Amino acid sequence: MAPQADRFSRFLLGLALFMALCAQATAQDKPRVPESFAPLIAALWPDAQARGISRKTFDLAFAGLTPDARVAALTVRQPEYGAPVADYLARIASQARIEGAARKAREWKPTLDAIEKQYGVDRWIVLALWGIETSFGANSGGFDVIRSLATLMAIGYRSDYFRDELLAALQVLQQRPVAREKMIGSWAGAMGQPQFMPSNFLNLAVDFDRDGRKDIWSSAPDVLASIANFLKHWGWKTGVAWGCEVILPQGFDYTRSRASYAEWTALGLTRADGEPMPEGNAILFFPSGVRGPAFLVGENFEVIKRYNNSDVFALAATQIADRAQGRGGIRSAWPANDRQLSRDERVALQKRMKELGHPVNDFEGRIDFDLRDEVRLEQAKHGMVPDGHPTREFLERIGAR
Ligand code: CA
Repeated sequence: MAPQADRFSRFLLGLALFMALCAQATAQDKPRVPESFAPLIAALWPDAQARGISRKTFDLAFAGLTPDARVAALTVRQPEYGAPVADYLARIASQARIEGAARKAREWKPTLDAIEKQYGVDRWIVLALWGIETSFGANSGGFDVIRSLATLMAIGYRSDYFRDELLAALQVLQQRPVAREKMIGSWAGAMGQPQFMPSNFLNLAVDFDRDGRKDIWSSAPDVLASIANFLKHWGWKTGVAWGCEVILPQGFDYTRSRASYAEWTALGLTRADGEPMPEGNAILFFPSGVRGPAFLVGENFEVIKRYNNSDVFALAATQIADRAQGRGGIRSAWPANDRQLSRDERVALQKRMKELGHPVNDFEGRIDFDLRDEVRLEQAKHGMVPDGHPTREFLERIGAR
């Protein structure tokens, strides 16, 4: 893999070229595929053909296609990593989505009964993901998926990845799950109501209503079963709880992070809602450090993260799921001034931890539970509470820039 700086320079160069081409197209007052865009598309044909895509499908996909300037602009937007967890949860696990999930659960009860029976996945998590991704289909993104993917490939933004997804999108189109113009999704090519990337569609989308089409754009049964199948594919364990909020005993040893629920109980942890602990193994997780709520999260929490590799995303899904079925929300208060690290700070943390000799799985700012364990070790060295939650103060202590 090329160093990050090189990749970024190439990306900037691509972006500049792209903007120039867009300006040219506007100046001619007749939007058309810029000259350097057409050869890129044409060069796809051999690989498309090798995947069994017909010339008819290929031509249908790209007829009159122009780059989308909005897509290029969105690639430079920073994800909102820095927001306090409480703000993020209020926005993502909103009251509207909680009520929506409860309403959809009633509306689609027989379908959800059948899906739960077939896939063994908790309906409430399926509904929560549907709500988070597109507000139950109310907002699928509105971007032409093939146009978005072609633009991302052309400007060199994670080019290999998006080229591959573009080829997968052509395979999707060949199956004609919907008409060409209805193949819409996010700016980054995530399609339909569950926001499946084309490769996920090919492998995991389901025609649950058996009309011959995997229609994740307008069939709720297909959408719900596709999400359930996705979670099953990534190892969802039937009947196992996602986890729970916990209260820690006085004098707790914060270096502990992994144990069975039974062991956690023996160590003096109790559920915040007073219920008995679930069964299985769980990781102790502090989204905002020891000053905020504490959670034990099990293997299904990791499965939810396959949908979007973010702990707070997964936490938001569990909150919609719990509250839609009438359970209480998070009981402990979030700390004031809960300043989470920005993406740049997270990447700096990951690089510094690597320099310090720790194993690091991700250099794109996603902090996983393995890295939190390594953070615990460094926190202990520096006399900080080893809660695995990196703060700015921690970054300063370890010399991350
Ligand atoms: Ca169908």
